[in-house]
Amino acid sequence: MTITISEVGPRDGLQNEQDVLPPATRAELVNRLAATGLPRIEAVSFVRDDAVPQMAGAEEVVEAIDRRGGVEYAGLVVNEQGYRRLAGSGLDRVNVTLGATESFNRRNANASLDEAVGRAEAILGGNPERATVTISVAFGCPFEGRVDPAVVASLAERFSEAGEVVLADTIGVATPGQVKSLVERTGASGFHGHNTRNTGFANAYAALEGGATVLDASVGGLGGCPFAPRATGNIATEDLVYMLEGDGVETGVDLDALITVSEWLEALLGRRLEGQLYRAGVFPSAKS
Ligand code: ZN
Repeated sequence: MTITISEVGPRDGLQNEQDVLPPATRAELVNRLAATGLPRIEAVSFVRDDAVPQMAGAEEVVEAIDRRGGVEYAGLVVNEQGYRRLAGSGLDRVNVTLGATESFNRRNANASLDEAVGRAEAILGGNPERATVTISVAFGCPFEGRVDPAVVASLAERFSEAGEVVLADTIGVATPGQVKSLVERTGASGFHGHNTRNTGFANAYAALEGGATVLDASVGGLGGCPFAPRATGNIATEDLVYMLEGDGVETGVDLDALITVSEWLEALLGRRLEGQLYRAGVFPSAKS
């Protein structure tokens, strides 16, 4: 079995870090990640600089990437303006995101749920070569609480022909049974999890059991959650790779190389990252 790990550290990770890294450093992170064999990297998001200063200068980041064969470079957008920037940048894949609830779309994208669906459909109507639709807050919303699985299922159905659908546990509240069941029900291709309540890795595993083949993760577990200031970020990519490879799931990622990226990031950010494998080391180690 082979799955696609979509590395979202340069985007979801960094956009939730306090430090704002310059475009050249963000491109260096992308280049270091690409060298580890990761098949897909979400490099930037095309949003307003004043709304998300951590993501400012997306075009500069993309220009400074040394493109590697076999690696797909993606960017996130929430509206058509963002999509036009992405299309001009020459990235390989667009990740269009919308929330599953009315309040989340209003707070996050200044749109009603219907408007957010319309924006996503307008982008997909331009027939981008490769598209992902990420349904945010698919399990729980910071403003509305639990989310009705039927609502997520109908959203997923609307977008299933135009692109790959990814269910996101944006605030890290889901549990494995919920994830497996919603992935099965929607036929979603992927899962995006945060480890906010320590269920992230079990949830990713459950998503695979439910039939998902794409998992989002962030090197070192970079990032946080914009709606829970003290919370941790995405599930750590290297910890996920260790778990999957140990169970015979192929990822194509060089684990030792990925750990080196987390060590570099730890020094760069000057703090211990949430990921555990880069401190514990792989087992068995190369020496033993
Ligand atoms: Zn996220």
